Amino acid sequence: MKLIYTHENRLLVNNIQNILENAGVSVTLKNEYAGGASGDLSFLSTWLEVWVLNDEDYDKAIDLIKTSFNSTSISDWICDNCSEANTPSFELCWNCQYENAV
Ligand SMILES: [Zn+2]
Repeated sequence: MKLIYTHENRLLVNNIQNILENAGVSVTLKNEYAGGASGDLSFLSTWLEVWVLNDEDYDKAIDLIKTSFNSTSISDWICDNCSEANTPSFELCWNCQYENAV
C-alpha cells in the first residue's frame, strides 16, 4: 500500500479518490475522521490521505492524477524567487517557501 496523494483541502483529496476509483484503482482514505480531533494532533497529521491498496496500481494512479490536473488546466507554476517548478498542489515553493503569487 502506498500513499498517493494528500492535501489540506479535503475536497481535492476526495476528488482524487473519485478519479482513481472510477478508473478501477482500489484506494483507501486515512485521517478521514481526524479533522475534528483534539489539538494534540499536529496540523499535518490531520490532512486527508489517499492510499493505493495495490502497489502495482501506483504508476497508473500517478498518471491519472497528472491527467486530472492537466485536464482542469491547473499546471505547474514557476517560483518568482528561485525559478523552480512547483506542482499545483504546492501553494508555497518547495525549494524556498516563496508564496505563489497567482
Ligand atoms: Zn522558490
